[in-house]
Amino acid sequence: AGRDPAQDALNIRMRAIKHKVIVMSGKGGVGKSTVAACLAARLAQRGSTVAALDTDICGPSLPTLLAVSDQEITNSQWGWLPPVSPCGVKVLSVGSMLPSADAAVALRGPRKTHLVRSMLRDTLWGRLNYLVIDTPPGTSDEHLSLARLLRDTRPDGVVLVTTPQDLVCGLSCPTERVTSTTGVVRRQVTFCRKVGLNIIGMVENMAEFECPCCKERYPVLGGTGAAERLAADLGIPLLGTLPLDPALATRCESGSAHNYLGPESNTERALGSSHCLV
Ligand code: ADP
Repeated sequence: AGRDPAQDALNIRMRAIKHKVIVMSGKGGVGKSTVAACLAARLAQRGSTVAALDTDICGPSLPTLLAVSDQEITNSQWGWLPPVSPCGVKVLSVGSMLPSADAAVALRGPRKTHLVRSMLRDTLWGRLNYLVIDTPPGTSDEHLSLARLLRDTRPDGVVLVTTPQDLVCGLSCPTERVTSTTGVVRRQVTFCRKVGLNIIGMVENMAEFECPCCKERYPVLGGTGAAERLAADLGIPLLGTLPLDPALATRCESGSAHNYLGPESNTERALGSSHCLV
């Protein structure tokens, strides 16, 4: 102690949080923030104390997804007080610090690291069961910062969000065992292992679309079964599969993702089967 007062202060905040889960994806638009928001909301609904941290500094979306866009972060003598969503999740996001929804943030790497550190250290998180951390797509400054800043207080690990499209390029042949060394998911896994982040598992999003008329299911983005094979090949659990469901998109837009239950409770399975979500 005393070595780095800023890190010590951050560690004190983080030690009051039982589980820290980082949600990542190889590219944008695969539903990473949707999964992070649903995960946080569902955990809160189950009775846990939950916060969600949006480290997507340039493209924050958690305030919309968790319906706190009309609230501001307030200051107290003990730190920032994050807005609280209707489902009870404390939400800290750069989105809540901007003057308008159209405002853009342009920060270089070191300033981003500084901001991520401030958000972790200067927020009055209180005692929490879970902190769900949304990140920007890819592996960049924010992810490296998180890995370093949380090293002392050991996050549970990473939930990787993918779509069948990403999975296919991780496979050498869709019907064979995986042998390719390329692909979005592989890169994510390599990154996590390099920086010492445990991988909790993978969520396959937008896997199938159920026709509202005939109830037939279509793998619209292709790659049926690829998730299972790739997960097995990489030695990581497949936590679950979410359908491509317009109802989910609509609910996300209106900030009521927590009310969503997919066909046959797929969502419940995908979001609730992680080992840390007991
Ligand atoms: P990311 O965080 O990976 O950029 P988002 O969570 O913002 O992705 O999702 C991108 C868009 O896709 C959003 O409009 C969201 O509502 C929609 N979406 C995400 N998952 C699903 C799904 N399973 N079914 C339908 N729409 C989805």
